[in-house]
Amino acid sequence: MFNLAAKPFDYLIVGAGFAGAVLAERLAAGSGKRVLLVDRRPHIGGNAYDYYNDAGILVHRYGPHIFHTNAERIWKYLSRFTTWRPYEHRVLANINSKLLPIPINLTTINTLYKLNLSSEGMQVFLAQRAEEPETIRTAKDVVLAAVGRDLYEKFFEGYTRKQWGVDPSKLDKSVTARIPTRTNTDDRYFGDTYQAMPKCGYTRLFENMLDHPNIKVMVNTDYREIVKSFRHDRLIYTGPVDEFFDYRFGRLPYRSLSFRHVTLDRPQFQPTAVVNYPSTDVPYTRITEYKYLTGQTHDQTSISYETPCDEGDPYYPVPNPENAVLYKKYETLAAKTPGVWFAGRLATYRYYNMDQVVAQSLALYSQLSELDGSLAQDERTKQSIVA
Ligand code: FAD
Ligand code: UDP
Repeated sequence: MFNLAAKPFDYLIVGAGFAGAVLAERLAAGSGKRVLLVDRRPHIGGNAYDYYNDAGILVHRYGPHIFHTNAERIWKYLSRFTTWRPYEHRVLANINSKLLPIPINLTTINTLYKLNLSSEGMQVFLAQRAEEPETIRTAKDVVLAAVGRDLYEKFFEGYTRKQWGVDPSKLDKSVTARIPTRTNTDDRYFGDTYQAMPKCGYTRLFENMLDHPNIKVMVNTDYREIVKSFRHDRLIYTGPVDEFFDYRFGRLPYRSLSFRHVTLDRPQFQPTAVVNYPSTDVPYTRITEYKYLTGQTHDQTSISYETPCDEGDPYYPVPNPENAVLYKKYETLAAKTPGVWFAGRLATYRYYNMDQVVAQSLALYSQLSELDGSLAQDERTKQSIVA
């Protein structure tokens, strides 16, 4: 049993998502540190949390999470805590009630326009329609330059407006550049070398990661309630960075989502794990059917509708130049805050996938380990991580 009164913690870590859990695991198992990990939600796992619902179906509370990475190091690291179910994600977009592959590929074009193009034919087709903005700066520019206006309007304009609450021209190009265009029939959503789902779910992966005598976990706990009660040498914060500093420079926009989870008395609802709804005629952006992700067999099926909104838990940093300027102020302040380190999607205001958060957290762990060898360099090293 962990004796809380025995001695101070080396680290208080705020947030039990991928950032907090990886750092807790590494600091405890890799460096023998004593770690107190707290989360204000009633569970570990952050946004990757999954659970068996009342019908006994494994679902993701905060929307579909598919693991994918090109980094062998990250794959190997997480494989210490889970075995995997091979899974390649496929998504269809509902365009005027027709279900078409997204990312746009040869099948999308041939089906949508009733053509019979080859790959070369599709390249010519796109080249004839592509628009060349002076510079490719925004989420709109990227798509117009790749596929032209009709496909932009059908697949991206409405979806992006719903997802982010602004026009694609007000968002960085990195947002829609996440989605490739393919001139072959490859209909996988991701092209990464490693694509899989944790065999027993994400929550089990987190449980395995945190199963260490040096790690104490407290859920349902906002760190502000306990920060003065438990002595600790260092703090790692993975929540929203503006909140940490009491919104000193104003609020950083984070986009939220509302999830409607439904269980149906039929074994299957839709033909793929995810169907996207770019049209602004419906408020939701996508419907996920979880059994495709998990491979579970069940007479019923569970789905979730995702509707973006401004209020609620922060899920997405909103990448645009204005927000980058505001974040920079917080980043500078964070770098000057002694004894506190910032990691993860909300604290570093980066639209990161899970593998990127794991990579960032492992990098921070390396830096912290180095610090223990040369404490005099504390602030200098911290600056270099933040930069
Ligand atoms: P989080 O998971 O957000 O964890 C931060 C934690 O900090 C939260 O649990 C929060 O409760 C806690 N916290 C905040 N403030 C406090 C406080 N004051 N006190 C205590 N606790 C606090 N990535 C992929 O790779 N593949 C996908 O398919 C994918 N799908 C996604 C789908 C959706 C709908 C969303 C929103 C994200 C998706 N992601 C996906 C991204 C993925 O969720 C993130 O990269 C990852 O979960 C971020 O981990 P994190 O630890 O940085 O943040
Ligand atoms: N996007 C779109 N239509 C789609 C799929 C994606 O317009 O059918 C745009 C949208 O702006 C979205 C971005 O591409 O936010 C990135 O999509 P991704 O599926 O990576 O989003 P996430 O899974 O992170 O929500």
